[in-house]
Amino acid sequence: MADPKGFMTTPRQDWPRRPVEERVRDWDEVYVPGALLPIISKQADRCMDCGIPFCHDACPLGNLIPEWNDLVSREDWRAAADRLHATNNFPEFTGRLCPAPCEAGCVLAINQPAVTIKNVECAIADRVWEEGFAPPRPPERLSGKTVAVIGSGPTGLAAAQQLTRAGHTVAVYERADRPGGLMRYGIPEFKMEKHHLERRLEQMRAEGTKFRTSTSVGQDIGADELRTRYDAVVLATGATAWRELTVPGRELTGIHQAMEYLPLSNRVCAGDLEASPLSAAGKHVVIVGGGDTGADCLGTAVREGAASVTQLDIYALPEVERDEDAEPWPTYPIRIYRLSAAHEEARDLRTAPVADADARLFAASTLRFDGDAEGHVRSLHLVEVDARRRPVDGTGRTLPADLVLLALGFSGPDRQDGLVDQLGLAMEPRGTVARDAGFATNVPGVFAAGDAARGQSLIVWAIAEGRAVAAAVDRHLTGSSRLPSPIGPYDRPMVV
Ligand SMILES: Cc1cc2nc3c(=O)[nH]c(=O)nc-3n(C[C@H](O)[C@H](O)[C@H](O)COP(=O)(O)OP(=O)(O)OC[C@H]3O[C@@H](n4cnc5c(N)ncnc54)[C@H](O)[C@@H]3O)c2cc1C
Ligand code: SF4
Repeated sequence: MADPKGFMTTPRQDWPRRPVEERVRDWDEVYVPGALLPIISKQADRCMDCGIPFCHDACPLGNLIPEWNDLVSREDWRAAADRLHATNNFPEFTGRLCPAPCEAGCVLAINQPAVTIKNVECAIADRVWEEGFAPPRPPERLSGKTVAVIGSGPTGLAAAQQLTRAGHTVAVYERADRPGGLMRYGIPEFKMEKHHLERRLEQMRAEGTKFRTSTSVGQDIGADELRTRYDAVVLATGATAWRELTVPGRELTGIHQAMEYLPLSNRVCAGDLEASPLSAAGKHVVIVGGGDTGADCLGTAVREGAASVTQLDIYALPEVERDEDAEPWPTYPIRIYRLSAAHEEARDLRTAPVADADARLFAASTLRFDGDAEGHVRSLHLVEVDARRRPVDGTGRTLPADLVLLALGFSGPDRQDGLVDQLGLAMEPRGTVARDAGFATNVPGVFAAGDAARGQSLIVWAIAEGRAVAAAVDRHLTGSSRLPSPIGPYDRPMVV
């Protein structure tokens, strides 16, 4: 580190967000452009190089955080870029989208705000592209082996890049019209502008990875045909089977799944649509589900000009500080009050007159929906619940609701494409694809990775899964592998 006392002399400073009034009028990323670089070297210098870096352990990719903090504090960007890419194929994605479990495990976080690790990662990643430190790295020799990757989310992309660079000939099959998985059609533009994705895809194409979009495996091409044509198949189809809310009135129009709603606004941003057919403009919007997908709906509805927005969370209002007994350092605290950019926007604009602190109502359980004579939803009835989800007497409440968005999570891959049945894949009881310790399914030559096998997770886990399955496939094809394998299929986040 350039200054061994940096953590004592420099306070934490995050990448500032643009003013709420400004950012809700566009779809650009919420951060102030160009405001990270001037502060980041001093921030990286807050790293204590503590000897046993729990941050490194808390990151599923095993990112070499103290090493690149040191290099950034000395402004050695090229070396920092090399160290970062040694463990992470796509740091510009995680630098923007990761919830940063590394920061929860930072030793400084025991009694001070953690190092802004995610911001340092993002600064290196962006600098990489500005300086041209990420040229395509095509393999020197081809192995003569072929691999089909099904699904082009972060898992499929990471697996494809690793296998292509190892010399195998890789084709990525994607049912959507553009590659990217949930990073393309799911995660809103204001969290990550799509040009970051395009740039990586261009790099991957230049390295030799082929993309076959608008091709649903199981429907447009048989799964068995892929098995015959390729030496190995990687299933990275994500967990897109959404959970339902079975309460009276669910059949009314105007009630949609989050993943029916969000891709439409992605398409508006991409120029495919002039306006979203499900736009929240002028509507009273209620989002059922307190997680990140719900927050993405919130930010989207605010930008579309909703009349009011309320997000319902079944859990009670969490504490502002980590509960050291229940979720001690260095674990990632789940029950802590977090105010995402979208919550900040909804709160400051007071689009939810029914809500108190921000646009969220906590400990709220939906009882039923009521509609008008045309069968369109007009209101949502809810009740407050206790910790065991029992209704609290006298807490019933009705919210106006013209658009209801369900963001209740996902159970596993959807089965409509017939892929699972065509291959005869064994499934876990919770609906995910079963695999062994080497990422192999019960079908010879077919491997499974990412949300499809792990269940709904995070980009950082998806990239780690992609890297690990690539190592397993490489070993299967050649008998050994020098590719890194950061996680095993049964590794789990560091939570209580
Ligand atoms: C709205 C939303 C917001 C999120 N925000 C964040 C965030 O901010 N940070 C974070 O870390 N995580 C976030 N996540 C979670 C994260 O996006 C996922 O964990 C991650 O994308 C999983 O990657 P994956 O590659 O396994 O699957 P996916 O990204 O789901 O990709 C799977 C791909 O497979 C394709 N596919 C499926 N079946 C077939 C078939 N039969 N043939 C061809 N193609 C097929 C799908 O079309 C899709 O493109 C979010 C999730 C959602 C839903
Ligand atoms: S990928 Fe996530 S956990 Fe890993 S260093 Fe980056 S922000 Fe931290």
